[in-house]
Amino acid sequence: MNDTRGTRVLVLNSGSSSVKYQLLDMADGSRLSSGIVERIGEGPVTDHSAALKQVADELAAQGLGLDSPELAAVGHRVVHGGTRFTEPTLIYDEVVEAIEKLIPLAPLHNPANVTGIKVARELRPDLPQVAVFDTAFHSTIPEEAARYAIDTATADEHGVRRYGFHGTSHAYVSRATAELLGKDPSEVNVIVLHLGNGASASAVRGGVCVDTSMGLTPLEGLVMGTRSGDIDPAVIFHLARVGGMSTDDIDALLNKRSGLLGLCGDNDMREIARRMGEGDESAQLAFDIYVHRLRKYVGAYTAVLGRVDAIAFTAGVGENSPAVRGAALSGLGALGIEVDAVRNSPGYRWEVPPGGSSARLISGPSSRVAVAVVPTDEELEIATQAYALVQG
Ligand code: ADP
Repeated sequence: MNDTRGTRVLVLNSGSSSVKYQLLDMADGSRLSSGIVERIGEGPVTDHSAALKQVADELAAQGLGLDSPELAAVGHRVVHGGTRFTEPTLIYDEVVEAIEKLIPLAPLHNPANVTGIKVARELRPDLPQVAVFDTAFHSTIPEEAARYAIDTATADEHGVRRYGFHGTSHAYVSRATAELLGKDPSEVNVIVLHLGNGASASAVRGGVCVDTSMGLTPLEGLVMGTRSGDIDPAVIFHLARVGGMSTDDIDALLNKRSGLLGLCGDNDMREIARRMGEGDESAQLAFDIYVHRLRKYVGAYTAVLGRVDAIAFTAGVGENSPAVRGAALSGLGALGIEVDAVRNSPGYRWEVPPGGSSARLISGPSSRVAVAVVPTDEELEIATQAYALVQG
């Protein structure tokens, strides 16, 4: 593999109706190009093949074509790696087949990921292509945290266990948090709160993930933009038997019409904050439920880890909502967690060194636990892992 001379990596994130791409130069981590092709299947972009050809054309128009010898690899985000894929993996035919076999575990995501891989391989058959799995970072979770307390034979027959998602982000952010503290990842215990439209928490001990809130699918755990997170499983039987709803109806309810959206009609935290400012009660209740769930996970993962060195907030809400950060951690002085109101305020100006990371501390001077805002960068992490693999 070390015959590769290029230093660039193209990262592809193929979703059901869009393809996001970034071209990074691993010599210095710089971003040479990025973009998104949306509404696949709706207009001129008839399918993923057309979408990836458009990506190739856009890059070529910038003098960064896929035929460039500078390109060392393509890194593909793949959502579900099951129990088989615990590392970034060089893609060959059998790997594609194995990812296809995992489709029942991720019916919304893996098919698009597979299509993206197939088309990219057709465009550049000679180029190393690497799959980086959202589940991989969580493969170290011990059995007592990964297994659900159901009949073992049934669970094993159907692959029912906690896999966890957003792993690329949890890996990147837990490492970046250690860096912010000036420590090696092996020395610190971190609770990572990835709060985007999807949201998940993880407990990372010495750089190794030991628990996470998402489970068999991304539905479990925190309250999200449109997903319920934790719920009594009997709610599903109740809605089926008493409410006459089908399995697909309930699936859509819990994944697409629940969470913040279901509670108050908005899934964007900015809009919810605005409505709260006007005294809107349902927006306030949605916020309170969201924050209450977060606090429960912080408490639970504090207990799981025993010693917590840092709590890191990341993704859209985590990076941008002082209100959520402040409310989630308020009154936790007994756990050694104190947020500094000034550093956490919206108007506080951070001095970010040119080219430096904008990760920053928002804890007060007497807080035993460091509280940090650490912008995530999943594309950089995918590129870093893919590049490391092809460099051998
Ligand atoms: P995705 O899961 O789609 O990658 P992001 O990490 O981009 O999501 O997060 C998107 C969410 O971040 C939005 O739905 C919104 O709720 C929230 N968000 C973005 N900017 C702000 C902001 N300035 N204040 C509060 N919330 C924000």
